[in-house]
Amino acid sequence: MDMNRRQFFRVSGAGLAASSLVALGFSPTAALAETRQFKLTRASVSRSTCPYCSVSCGQLIYTLGDKAKNARPAVIHIEGDPDHPVSRGSLCPKGAGVMDMLTSPNRVKYPEVREPGGKEWKRISWDEALTRIAKHMKADRDANFVTQNEAGTTVNRWPTTGFLMCSSASNESAYLSVKVARALGMIAIDTQARV
Ligand code: SF4
Repeated sequence: MDMNRRQFFRVSGAGLAASSLVALGFSPTAALAETRQFKLTRASVSRSTCPYCSVSCGQLIYTLGDKAKNARPAVIHIEGDPDHPVSRGSLCPKGAGVMDMLTSPNRVKYPEVREPGGKEWKRISWDEALTRIAKHMKADRDANFVTQNEAGTTVNRWPTTGFLMCSSASNESAYLSVKVARALGMIAIDTQARV
């Protein structure tokens, strides 16, 4: 490398300073690692499942606040769970970007309804939403339940309402969901895990 005397002293001085800092324990790698550790040290961690697809990769969700009553919790970091038996710490780009979904201003956090003929979505309570769903289900089932087919064979079908299940449901809750839907006679059952 060509350099004049002034440049030589500048490079030598910078190299000496860097090696002295490393000797004193100021390694850049260690310093960066320390920053990351400090950020997560103040957080509590919860295990969860990626909501996007049927692989159901495990996630560790770090929340600020020690669950004290006067602390407002906020998710600050999400990463793959290395102890998860399916994903072993890995996440695809969708799962790795789940923070954006959590913090998106477009995220719907409560039930909404658009009345027949209406243009606007209106916020309703969970109680009202569940009551409305139950009433709609009963009315539709009463009107359309099929007990026998054309050959006179008992079928007990409810062909006019479908049931869509969540992809991050556990085996147990998925089993119960199918049992409930089938017990009502539903034929159209699907899961977002296939989407
Ligand atoms: S979207 Fe990606 S990270 Fe999420 S469960 Fe599916 S494969 Fe795993």
